Amino acid sequence: MSERTLAIIKPDAVKKQAIGDIIARYEKAGLKPVALRMMQFSKSTAQGFYAVHKARPFFDSLCTFMVSGPVVVLVLQGDNAIKKNRELMGATDPAKAEPGTIRKAHGTNIEFNAVHGSDSPETAKFEIAYFFPEMDLVG
Ligand code: ADP
Ligand code: MG
Repeated sequence: MSERTLAIIKPDAVKKQAIGDIIARYEKAGLKPVALRMMQFSKSTAQGFYAVHKARPFFDSLCTFMVSGPVVVLVLQGDNAIKKNRELMGATDPAKAEPGTIRKAHGTNIEFNAVHGSDSPETAKFEIAYFFPEMDLVG
């Protein structure tokens, strides 16, 4: 089933000049960018996006990281896009990520882990609407 998911190339990966490599990985995996935006998060943009994590001990540090430089926000479309992107990303902690994954290649640690990807249809819907309010969930 074709669906859409939200991906973010985080500030650490943008600083490392890994934007091109990461987008090539999406495209090679059949995840087609259907919306793309480079932007600098404000603190409130980061806090609102990660509101689900606001009780976590790492919340403040995560939001500080996400405003530390520009990011690239994308909507990716393809068959099973949500699950496929999670597989492509690898585990949250790059040290535990499978070889060949984006986080294995570009992540530094459990916080500076190069990319974000929606984890369910519900979060994809919220996250896509957060940055691209005019888009539908399924193209
Ligand atoms: P994922 O991005 O794999 O879905 P989570 O939703 O659990 O992971 O966490 C959101 C983000 O918060 C992670 O991608 C990472 O940047 C950061 N993070 C997660 N766990 C930790 C932690 N224990 N310490 C610091 N940062 C963390
Ligand atoms: Mg998550």
